[in-house]
Parts: sequence; C-alpha cells; structure tokens
Amino acid sequence: MINPLGDSGAAPRDRMGRHVRDLRVSVTDRCNFRCVYCMPKEVFGKDYQFLERKEILSFEEIARMARIFRGLGVNKIRLTGGEPLVRRNIERLIGMLAAIPGLDLTLTTNGSLLRQKAQALKSAGLNRVTVSLDSLDDTVFRRMNDVDFPVTRVLEGIDAAAAAGLAPVKVNMVVKRGENENGIVAMARRFRGTGHILRFIEYMDVGHTNGWRMDDVITAREILGMIDAEMPLEPIDPNYPGEVAERWRYRDGSGEIGLIASVTQAFCRDCTRIRLSTDGKLYTCLFATTGHDVRDLLRGGASDGDITSSISEIWTRRGDRYSEIRTANTGSVKKIEMSYIGG
Ligand code: SAM
Ligand code: SF4
Ligand code: SF4
Repeated sequence: MINPLGDSGAAPRDRMGRHVRDLRVSVTDRCNFRCVYCMPKEVFGKDYQFLERKEILSFEEIARMARIFRGLGVNKIRLTGGEPLVRRNIERLIGMLAAIPGLDLTLTTNGSLLRQKAQALKSAGLNRVTVSLDSLDDTVFRRMNDVDFPVTRVLEGIDAAAAAGLAPVKVNMVVKRGENENGIVAMARRFRGTGHILRFIEYMDVGHTNGWRMDDVITAREILGMIDAEMPLEPIDPNYPGEVAERWRYRDGSGEIGLIASVTQAFCRDCTRIRLSTDGKLYTCLFATTGHDVRDLLRGGASDGDITSSISEIWTRRGDRYSEIRTANTGSVKKIEMSYIGG
C-alpha cells in the first residue's frame, strides 16, 4: 500500500505530542471464562446479548485497518478480546497480519486453548503471547474464572507456547484484594528461573460492571515488598522508552518480573495505544466513554486515504490521560467494558 502520509515523519501526534504506535484489536467480545473482575456472571449471563456475526469486523476488514495503521506509524499489534482464541480460524487472521512488514504481532489469552493452538499460532506468524493467570491455587483460580477451569490446563498452555517458540512468554496476574493476593509470592516462586516474565497488574476501574473500589487495589509497591522480602530484587532499565511495566530482576540472576502500576503510577504521558473494538470502533483510551466508528467507512466504500485521514483527525484531537486524573470514586462515569475493547 502507498502510505498517503508519505514518510513516518508525517505520522500524527496527539494533543500531548504522542504518536500512535500500538494497536490493540479485540477480535471477539465472547469469552469462555467469566472472570469476576471482567465479565461477572450476573451481567454476562445466559441472556446477555453478544454482538451478532454481521456486526463484527471480518478478518479482511481487520487486516485492512492494520495496513492503514502501519502506514500511520503503528509497529505493534496485539490481538485480544474477549478471548481471542475462541474466534474461529484466528490463525488465518494472524497469517494475514504477519504478511504486513514491520509489525510485532502478539496476543493476550486466558491460556485455556493454548495447549492445542500454540504451534498453529506460531506457524501462522505470531511472535509472542501473554497469558493471564491470576492464581496457582486451583480453588482460587476456579473461583476467579468462575467456570471451574483448572489451573493445570493453563500451565500446560504456557509450556506449549514456550515449546512452540512464542517466547519469552509473559504471564499477567491481576491482583485484587481479598481474591488472590495471598498467591503473589507463590506465583513469583513458580515462574522464577523459567525464562517466562511474570507481571503483576494493579486491579483497574475498567467498565462499570466490576464495582471497583480503590480499597480493592493491592499496589505495585506492596507487591514488590512481598516478593523482595523473600527473593531480593533490583530495578532494571526499561527495554524501550515508555514501557508500561516497571522491570525488576532477582539479585541472584534467576530472572525478572514486571509491575504494571496502572492505578498508582499513571503512564499516560507515554501512551501510544489505540484500541479497535470487535465491531469496528476506535477508542483512544482504555477508559474512553465513546468510540469512533470506522466500520461504516470500511463498508461504505471509503478509500484507504479517506480512512487514514479520519484516523489522523481522531488521533490529533486526542487528549486522553485518564489514569493521571482518576479520582478514588469513578463509579459515576459510564465506561466501556474491558471484554469489549480488550486489555
Ligand atoms: N481473555 C484474554 C485474557 O484474559 O488474557 C484477553 C482479554 S482480557 C480483557 C485482557 C487482560 O485484561 C487480562 O490480562 C485481564 O486479566 C485484564 N483485566 C481484565 N479486567 C481487568 C481489571 N479490572 N483490571 C486490570 N486488568 C484487567
Ligand atoms: Fe475472559 Fe479475559 Fe475477561 Fe477473563 S479477563 S473474562 S478471560 S476476557
Ligand atoms: Fe493510555 Fe488512557 Fe491508560 Fe492513560 S488511561 S495510559 S491515556 S489508555
């Protein structure tokens, strides 16, 4: 495709001078888990209306958006959801995206289907995976995913991903007070020395169904203290400017962990992320209240140049910095669900 903006020097900057670099695509709003903090059963029950097939972007539409974003300077695409591996033939989409030069292609998954799919994902051109795993304690894990899914199957998925070369595997643990903080140190012990990178994420006030309260947040500092007391850590430099996870390594050389302090240490200043929802809306912030529809453009005969101009305009107007200005009580703001725009 010819880049209508010419060289990357013409790539748009938002109102805070940030470029767009990282596109997150939610490929489905459906999931085989009902994590208590993300898709609680009381809301996402039998009667919940998920998107219909005709509403969701096709692989061709997603790949076209990816090519357009590549032209705007995006160099990383993460597939997410819902659970991306429940979308049928996801390998076909990965193959289409892997054909776009200069893109780092990753995927975030709950790991439930990874054991059987890891090799096919790698063969299709996926570079790496991030697996969400909130506890090693089977009882706690089953309670948190709320569909009685056993932890061993996710661990097998992580092994399969590493064996397939989707490495290093990142393992993300969201910590919620009263749910899983007792498992923090066990998790560190389990993944230390494996080459996988364990990352702890502060529980966030995404969406409006999880009833978030600041009291539910175990801070990154608390997490660091718990691990450091048993396995001493030291800070290391970020891999690149603006990396979201703060990196720490074990002083004995047995690996590293990451801390993602999305609540207590906002990183909006360096935020170059944009999200494409399952039904083709662009969100310039995880906490955005409205999206910008591009599906109508895709289906209405707009040229790549037209769509590029629209996105540039949206990005140029962007002034998002929600986490920097969050208040302790966010309940009154109607936000978009995580399962709809991905993490
Ligand atoms: N289903 C996939 C998974 O669980 O990895 C991908 C989508 S999920 C919405 C993406 C990430 O968001 C997961 O790591 C999940 O733990 C995280 N997440 C969901 N709700 C969250 C919340 N309230 N605070 C912090 N992280 C959250
Ligand atoms: Fe599903 Fe992921 Fe949300 Fe859990 S966090 S309910 S696995 S989308
Ligand atoms: Fe980016 Fe919005 Fe998160 Fe800030 S709150 S880091 S702008 S997604």
